[in-house]
Amino acid sequence: MCGIVGYVGEKKQVVEVILDGLKRLEYRGYDSAGIAVANNGEALQVRRAEGKLRNLEESIRLKPLNGTYGIGHTRWATHGRPTEENAHPHRDCTGKIVVVHNGIVENYMSLKRKLIEEGHKFTTETDTEVIAHLVEKNLYQTGNGKRPSLEEAVRKTVKQLTGVFALGVICSDEPEKIVAARNGPPAVIGLGKNEYFVASDVPAILHHTRDLF
Ligand code: GLU
Repeated sequence: MCGIVGYVGEKKQVVEVILDGLKRLEYRGYDSAGIAVANNGEALQVRRAEGKLRNLEESIRLKPLNGTYGIGHTRWATHGRPTEENAHPHRDCTGKIVVVHNGIVENYMSLKRKLIEEGHKFTTETDTEVIAHLVEKNLYQTGNGKRPSLEEAVRKTVKQLTGVFALGVICSDEPEKIVAARNGPPAVIGLGKNEYFVASDVPAILHHTRDLF
């Protein structure tokens, strides 16, 4: 169970805030890291790397990213090898949704089997990827023609999971929004002036705001 840091706001450099926050959680140990960043209404950009955060920084240096909101993760692998492919954030089939997750989805095998039967394409060995596809299903494939909000889709998704989790979810169709949920592992929300933070632990964002809950 490792690190999550998310930021929404135009005041700060989103990539810097996220990488700096993840560094402040490094003491917890991790085996890989990743980040997803977006600008209003544009496609999500994702970078991931095996090993230390400096490898992720190097990949960003070679192929820079920027945006006004985003989310990052340091992974301690429980399901699937500690490779770049298995590093979070994980994507759905449309590429519009990304998920970072701390914890374990205990019923991921049965969920994955069903989602594959329904036509979803999986690209990682992780338990976490089922969450991205479930959010996709609950957001876009509701059957009644009315699309729920991302919050509603995530709420429905977490009811289908057994296990423990702290989650951060972004969908590029709903700009400037990070939906977080937790059951077990900690998650903290930080409020700034026209800016918002989410993290798996206080030290990641405490230097930005003391308005935490
Ligand atoms: N179970 C997830 C995985 O193996 C999340 C691990 C974590 O908490 O970092 O990818």
